[in-house]
Amino acid sequence: MRRRIPIVILVLVALGLILAACAPKPAETVPAVKRPLVLGMHALVETDADARILAGEVPSLAKRGVNLLIVEVDYWYDYASHPELHMENPVKKETVKALLAACRAKGIRLVPQFQSLGHQSWAEKTFPLLVKYPQLDETPNKYAGNKGTDPWGTEFYCRSWCPLHPDLLPIVNDLYDELLEVFEADALHIGMDEVFIIADADCPRCAGKSTAELFARAVNDAYDHIVRKRGKEMMMWADRLIDGQATGYGLWEASMNGTDKAIDMIPRDIVMCDWHYEPKYPLQGTPKSTFPSPRIFADKGFRVLPTSFRNIDALNRFIDQSLAVPSDKVLGHVCTVWHPLGKGKYGKLRQLKAASKKIKKASTSPS
Ligand SMILES: [Zn+2]
Repeated sequence: MRRRIPIVILVLVALGLILAACAPKPAETVPAVKRPLVLGMHALVETDADARILAGEVPSLAKRGVNLLIVEVDYWYDYASHPELHMENPVKKETVKALLAACRAKGIRLVPQFQSLGHQSWAEKTFPLLVKYPQLDETPNKYAGNKGTDPWGTEFYCRSWCPLHPDLLPIVNDLYDELLEVFEADALHIGMDEVFIIADADCPRCAGKSTAELFARAVNDAYDHIVRKRGKEMMMWADRLIDGQATGYGLWEASMNGTDKAIDMIPRDIVMCDWHYEPKYPLQGTPKSTFPSPRIFADKGFRVLPTSFRNIDALNRFIDQSLAVPSDKVLGHVCTVWHPLGKGKYGKLRQLKAASKKIKKASTSPS
């Protein structure tokens, strides 16, 4: 027997459905449509032994689902084009080939990284480029012992090269070329994070120029060589292209000296490795950190690789928020480690385990 439903209940149900449709939806934690996602690992090698250990770790990285390995070598590769520019016990060509073979066997894309523009020193040690060619230093006669206060009022951090020095590009492009060739790479990561020394008042070429224009010039010079001339993809750290005040990220994970305006002066096919690590940002005024930048880059047309470090709470929320951006410009996620690891350590990294779980859940297998 059909039971008659009172009209008032029908009206209430209809009203409920309309209200439910209009209510704000909770943030999605997985992409609206599953797609193949990148799970990247950034590793640092400072000696040939470090690189040999890393080659042996590739199977355990593959087991976690890593399909992109960014290997930062900077001045620790044994450059044949510039033997004067490598550090002690540099990574040898045959070790790179062993690493490459291990990656290929597991379907992992191998991308070398070379820190450009900033990060030309660490603590009291200045790296070989500015030691051998001091004229390329943005501040050659300042910050003795790599100490002092920079123009932005913070403690001196790292030296920068001068992006306008006419002797710079022939040398740096040789290093980029050699890395691309030895790694047989289809992409190069050029670093460019945390550049605090730029447009120095005492640099005869840069003084008085806009920090954004100088930063864009450095990016565009690298792009001209790597992408336009060599036909490769370019990746970079994205922090200098983000407004630190507006996003609340502050001066480390974003820019407070105007370089962020360069975001509109560079090609949109650069892959932005957008790193953020903190569980809370004081400038945001929220109990826990939020991550507006993947959407900013995606909306501008850049592909983004959100990148995290060891705070698992921040990592989980960053992955959730970035994958909720309704754009396939968000490519996946990259984990980082900032010192070389010993045998058996890479696959056990807590941050990699956490990211692996989320990315595997949100990703389909590549077709
Ligand atoms: Zn300069």
